[in-house]
Amino acid sequence: MKYALVTGGSRGIGRAICLKLAKMGFSVLVNYQSNKVAAEETKNLIEANGGTAELLLFDVADGAAVEKVLSEWQAAHADDYIAVLVNNAGIRKDNLMFWMSDSEWSNVLDTSLNGSFYTTRTLVKYMMNKKFGRVINIVSISGINGMAGQTNYAAAKAGVIGMTKALALETAKKKVTINAVAPGFIETDMTKDLNQDELKKIVPAQRFGKAEEVADLVGFLASENASYITGQVITISGGL
Ligand code: NDP
Repeated sequence: MKYALVTGGSRGIGRAICLKLAKMGFSVLVNYQSNKVAAEETKNLIEANGGTAELLLFDVADGAAVEKVLSEWQAAHADDYIAVLVNNAGIRKDNLMFWMSDSEWSNVLDTSLNGSFYTTRTLVKYMMNKKFGRVINIVSISGINGMAGQTNYAAAKAGVIGMTKALALETAKKKVTINAVAPGFIETDMTKDLNQDELKKIVPAQRFGKAEEVADLVGFLASENASYITGQVITISGGL
């Protein structure tokens, strides 16, 4: 049995990734921070499709909690390891920089950038030992191009892109690939406050993307077929 961990697997893009990886035969560890009902729904959906899943509650921004929960999981599964890690947990706290509070800045960086560091540092050593692994970081086109009102979010995602490229150089020899997926506008809870009718006009494809479309790309990067792709940022944005 190969295990995959998806942070923020309870809702949105993370849930779609959990379902995709389960369909590919992975036993999925569904991480969530607070929404137990949604996390259980993800687990039920996986099981209804014949897959296996377990819930892992931790805040990715809490380094000690990440280390504790993942070390306990590892101790309970001595012969196994988590072969695929999808760093998907993320939050938005948009504001113009001159109004941005310390907490709006640090919460967003703590979740996306520090969270990806804590999980990856804990798990990548097992992947390198076993000479197979996949780390897929969900970033954003905001981290490539910038977006007004998102200095915190763009900085966090750009930081993860830098981490992706540097870590890929450290792990390639051990057959562990590190890539990033950069979505544009995707229909989830995170974007439900946006004016979709207005914003879709600036998307060349004239629509928001679906979480399942992101999940299909992540599934490919997690597969054996993607062995020669590492250190890359792949955009999925309808041309935006
Ligand atoms: P949602 O808001 O729909 O879901 C966020 C998920 O992250 C939830 O499962 C939530 O858990 C989890 N989460 C949030 N903070 C933490 C934390 N500290 N520790 C653990 N889990 C946490 O977001 P999306 O599905 O839209 O976004 C997923 C990723 O994709 C994010 O990284 C986002 O930045 C990125 N992205 C999204 C885009 C979009 O248009 N939607 C575009 C570009 C990138 P819980 O349910 O417990 O709250």
